[in-house]
Amino acid sequence: MEDTYLHKGLRKKLVEEIKGKGIKDKRILEAINKVPRHLFMDSSFVHFAYKDQAFPIAANQTISQPFTVAFQTQLLDIQKGDKVLEIGTGSGYQAAILLALGAKVYTIERQKALNIGAQNLLPKIGYRPHFFYGDGFQGLPTYAPFDKVIITAAFNEIPDKLVEQLKVGGKMVLPLGGRGTQIMTLLEKYSEKDYKISEHGAFVFVPMLKGKV
Ligand code: SAH
Repeated sequence: MEDTYLHKGLRKKLVEEIKGKGIKDKRILEAINKVPRHLFMDSSFVHFAYKDQAFPIAANQTISQPFTVAFQTQLLDIQKGDKVLEIGTGSGYQAAILLALGAKVYTIERQKALNIGAQNLLPKIGYRPHFFYGDGFQGLPTYAPFDKVIITAAFNEIPDKLVEQLKVGGKMVLPLGGRGTQIMTLLEKYSEKDYKISEHGAFVFVPMLKGKV
């Protein structure tokens, strides 16, 4: 659980790199600077923790690239106190970034091993989302509505069930597309029935998969 001067130094460089790639929101850069990403990685990849790349984690999944985490977070325009639903807890890194920005986070994961891994790590380093082991396609109707929804696995189509769980005036960000590349899509819900979408470039995510394992 060590966070050394070396880690802190590497993190500062990562922040500069992400800034150079177009992340302007100072609060997000501060959050990246604060959360010790190396603690979220498998020990074999820990030396790469501050490279701006995605890496394998348990259960054949990945921890997203820091730029992607920052970019999705920036599109959502997270405000203190926002109630945020995250689909795909994975390592828990994205959830920690949202918490560092003052959001209340509800995060779902379908892989038990990852759900448990994140539940073991995050509270130890001061981050306390509400963890759920379940199927993200269903969202969390009991806890809806949410101000923001962030989806960190690829969806083939706009998930109506999750749009329903979004407040009017809320935003959802999701990688939309099949295997291969997806388009980062921002959905803004402006009435109970209507939303507008905008596209924000190509990204690569692992796919949403059905059921719990
Ligand atoms: N947000 C993560 C990145 C996760 S990668 C991080 O910061 O590390 C995508 C995650 O979505 C994987 O952990 C995968 O298991 C999960 N996932 C895929 N299908 C899902 C589903 N139906 N419900 C919930 N999680 C799902």
